[in-house]
Formats: sequence, structure tokens, C-alpha cells
Amino acid sequence: MAIRIRIGDYERVTGDPLNRHSIGYFPRMTEREAWDAGRGVWRLDLRMVRRERYALIVGEGRVRAIAEITDVTVHGTDRGRKKALWGTLLTTGHPIYDRYAHQVDPLHNDSRNSVAYGELPEEVRLRARHCACGCGQPTEGNFVPGHALRAIQARIREHFGGSALSFLTWLDNELPAEEHSSRP
Ligand SMILES: [Zn+2]
Repeated sequence: MAIRIRIGDYERVTGDPLNRHSIGYFPRMTEREAWDAGRGVWRLDLRMVRRERYALIVGEGRVRAIAEITDVTVHGTDRGRKKALWGTLLTTGHPIYDRYAHQVDPLHNDSRNSVAYGELPEEVRLRARHCACGCGQPTEGNFVPGHALRAIQARIREHFGGSALSFLTWLDNELPAEEHSSRP
């Protein structure tokens, strides 16, 4: 899940819980500046925000910074307890960054609330499983086609000197008794 934070117009601030001297969007701000301007402080539901993995900072309708959230801190302010996000800025090569950096707010809504939550399609793909053989290739199932057999053959080579018969004999001995009793 991702959290979208829309920053407002540039303004100078004093006594900021994050020791900033200004917040808000200004043209040609760097991603680091956008992240610092947007990562706090907000009225956020801790349980909600702890489920979010990515934070998108939006200024004037476009994504100005994207970070992977690493922590959330609570700050007392004269307007109650507010939260700040901590995170690592994503860069080129990360699928979320490549898809959304500098693009139009993907979680745009008509709400006046600066904060929105949602799931990005790329997150679903990022969660796609990886082949259980350990090759690192993504797959919809447990294995890339053909890799289950490959993994079994590798174990037979490694542990049974390449003898399928030794492997099957060992397996039959290892299996629980009830498995054996079901055989004719
Ligand atoms: Zn594999």
C-alpha cells in the first residue's frame, strides 16, 4: 500500500517539530526537498500508516518525491499529536519510481485531505512470487515452468550421487508409515 501526501504552497515556518524553516512546494525543488517538505507533520492513523510501504509526495498535481517508508515518529504540536514519516528516497531503476516519478498524482481524488491511501498496480507485481528453486526469477506459481524438476534433479545430484533410485529408496523410508500402508 502507498500513502500519497499532497503538499501545499511554499511557506516559512518557525518552531517546526522537524526543525524545518519552510514547508510546501516550490518550483524546481529537488526530490530531497520535496520529501523533507512532505514527510510531516500530519494527522495520520498509526495503524494505517504502518501498513504503507511507499510514500508519494505530490506538489501541484505531480509526484515530486517517492520514498520507501522506514519509520513513523509521533510529535507533539500545538495542534495535537502529529506524525512524521522517515524513509529512503527511491531512484531510477526502482519500478515504483520509474512509473510514478514526475508523473500525475496516481492517487488523485477530489478530497481536500492532503493524505490519501491506495494500492499501486506495481506494488502487486513487486509482491509476485519468486521461483522456489532459488533462481530469482519471478513467477505466478511456485516455480518457473521446468524449474521444479530441475530443483529435484539438483538434489539428487547433490545428495544421492545422481542416483534417482537411491533418492526414491530414501524417500520411501522417510515417509510416514500411513503413506506406506495406503499402497497396495
Ligand atoms: Zn527457478
